[in-house]
Amino acid sequence: MSEPDVLKTLQDAGLDVLTCMQCGTCSGSCPSGRYTSLNTRRIVRKARKNSDMLHDDDLWMCATCYNCQERCPRGIKIVDAILMIRTIAVHEGIMLPAHRKISELVLKHGHAVPINDATKEKRKNLGLEELPETVHKYPEALADVKTLLESCGFDKLVVEKQE
Ligand code: SF4
Ligand code: SF4
Repeated sequence: MSEPDVLKTLQDAGLDVLTCMQCGTCSGSCPSGRYTSLNTRRIVRKARKNSDMLHDDDLWMCATCYNCQERCPRGIKIVDAILMIRTIAVHEGIMLPAHRKISELVLKHGHAVPINDATKEKRKNLGLEELPETVHKYPEALADVKTLLESCGFDKLVVEKQE
């Protein structure tokens, strides 16, 4: 299978990264980069060169705070580009194991973080109902959630391309 042309997809979507002058304002503004290996400027440089970004784990370290995008002197839609690259990656079956696990939980339970006994107890202590107004309380709605997820192909993205 041929590799997707990420740069062309970005350009076609109006996400022009070619004007990046590698000033580093984005990296310097990035709170995630202080705690992870994420180097936003490097991601943009890779996008400009159309070199392999899809297997770069840093792609998933962005917290989408938009600091970089708001400050980029060239007005580059950095986060929108990162999100699009992530989308392309997922369609290629590339997903971090933790994200795949979370996605599987959504498919199975309709929740990324299904409730457990400890959380039920906390809710009761706070004067809340034990179960929230979700599929936890209305399990019959889970079938609708699954239909929605299947209708947009989410189940195939998560399950079919499992390695
Ligand atoms: S702030 Fe903008 S111009 Fe500067 S390196 Fe980042 S993407 Fe490029
Ligand atoms: S949006 Fe992402 S890349 Fe940009 S500053 Fe925030 S965490 Fe860093």
